[in-house]
Amino acid sequence: MASSIDSPVDLRSLETVSEYDGHLMCPICHCPFVNPVQLNCDHIFCQACLDTCIRTSNPLVRHRTLPDNFLCPTCRLLTNSTFKRAPRLVVAMCDDILVKCPYTPQGCKEVIQRGYVQSHVDKYCAYKLIECLDEACDKMIRVKDMPSDNHCVHQLQECDGCGESVMELEFDKHKAALCSATEMTCSTCGATLCRREYADHIKDCSTSACQAAAYGCPVTLHISEIEEHEKGCPLVTLGPYLENQSSRIASMETTIRQLQQRNEVLEEGIASIRSSLQTSRPSSALGTASSSQMAVEDIPSTDLAELLTETTAQPEPSTAGNTNTTTYLLSIHESLREEVSELTHALSDLDARANMTIMNENLRLREDMAHISAGLNTVRMQVHMLINSFLHQGQRPMGTRPAPTVGNNSVEGLNSPGPSSSVNPRMNSETLLSTRRQSDSRESTKL
Ligand SMILES: [Zn+2]
Ligand SMILES: [Zn+2]
Ligand SMILES: [Zn+2]
Ligand SMILES: [Zn+2]
Ligand SMILES: [Zn+2]
Ligand SMILES: [Zn+2]
Ligand SMILES: [Zn+2]
Repeated sequence: MASSIDSPVDLRSLETVSEYDGHLMCPICHCPFVNPVQLNCDHIFCQACLDTCIRTSNPLVRHRTLPDNFLCPTCRLLTNSTFKRAPRLVVAMCDDILVKCPYTPQGCKEVIQRGYVQSHVDKYCAYKLIECLDEACDKMIRVKDMPSDNHCVHQLQECDGCGESVMELEFDKHKAALCSATEMTCSTCGATLCRREYADHIKDCSTSACQAAAYGCPVTLHISEIEEHEKGCPLVTLGPYLENQSSRIASMETTIRQLQQRNEVLEEGIASIRSSLQTSRPSSALGTASSSQMAVEDIPSTDLAELLTETTAQPEPSTAGNTNTTTYLLSIHESLREEVSELTHALSDLDARANMTIMNENLRLREDMAHISAGLNTVRMQVHMLINSFLHQGQRPMGTRPAPTVGNNSVEGLNSPGPSSSVNPRMNSETLLSTRRQSDSRESTKL
C-alpha cells in the first residue's frame, strides 16, 4: 500500500461551513471543542487548550506533570487535575459540525462532518500528498496523479513537438498550455497554426468594426473585408448628415441652457422689482411728500398696484406649461419695464421744469441787481457832490480867520495832515457808511 504521511489533522484550523451553537466554542481557542474535558466546576475546555493554559500560567510546572490543584481558567475555582470526559452529547454535537477538507486550497471540494475529516484525509482525499512509490524517487505526488500501475511519473521525457524535457506528471499540462508546437485554431479566421506563431497571427488577424458603428452599424469584419463593406454601408453614407444633426442638437441644447439662465435672471429681476414696489408703496401713501411729487408718483403707482393684484390673482406659474410661464413672466417684465420708463420720463420732465423756474428766477434777480447797482452809482455821485460842496463851505470861514495866508494854508494842508484836513476823511467815511446802509436796506426790502 501507499506509504502516506499520516499526520493528525489540526481540527481547529478547519474552515467551518455550518453554523454552530456558541456554547460549543472553547473559551480558550474560540473553536468548537476538540477532545473536550470537564472540570469539577462543570466548565468544559479542549484537553490541549487546558494543558497549555495550566503550563503557561504556572512556569514552575512546565516540562513536568500537571499539579494536583489549579484554578479553573473561567471561574478561578480551585479544582483538581482529575478531569472527566465531557458529556457524549457535547462531543457528538462538535463532531457533527460541517467543515471543508484541509486540502481545499489544493482543489478538494469535499465538505464533511468534522468527526470524519481524519478518515477522509487518510483514505479518500485525492489531493493529499504522498511519497512516490518508486524506491529511487524522493518526490511527493498527489493521490489523484498516481498512475494505475504505480510507476514513477517524475521521469523526464522529451516532448516530440518542441523537444523540451518534461516530467511525465506534467506532460498533459505542457501539451495543453505550454508546448510551442501545440496546434491552435484562430477564433477570428478559423486558421489552424502552432502556438509559437499564434501571437503574431492574432495581430494580423484582428477585426475592425464598421466606421459607422457609432450610428448603429453592427458589422465587424476582418480588416481586408471591412473596406468593401464600408463602401456599400448606408450608415457610412448617412454619417456626415447624422454628424451635422447631432452637432445641431448640441448647439440647440446649449442655446436652451443659455435661455434658461436668462429666464432665471429675468425672474430674479421681476422678483426684486416686485419687492421694491411693495416696500415703496406704503411710504408714498404716507403723504409726507409735497403735492407736486404726489401728483407725479400717483399715476404709475396705482397702475402698478393693479398689475400686482393681477399677477397675484393669476394661477401658480408652476402649474402652467413651461413656455406659458416664460411668456407670462416676460410680459410682466415688459410691462414693469414700461412703468419704470414712464417714471423716468416723468422725473426728467419735473427736473426740466424745476431747472426752467430756477433760470427765470435767476434772470429776475440779475435784473434787480443791475437796478440796485445803478441806483447806488447815482447815490455815490450825489454824495460826492455833497462832500465837495461841504468842503468848499468849510474853506471859506477859515480864510476870514486872522491867521497865516490862504496860500500857506493850502500848501500846509497838502503837505501835512492839519486839523482841517483830519476832519475831512472822517466826514467822508461817515457819509459813505450811511449811504451804504441805506442801499442795503433798500436791497433787503426788494428781495
Ligand atoms: Zn480549545
Ligand atoms: Zn470553572
Ligand atoms: Zn479532501
Ligand atoms: Zn517518482
Ligand atoms: Zn512540447
Ligand atoms: Zn486568424
Ligand atoms: Zn457598416
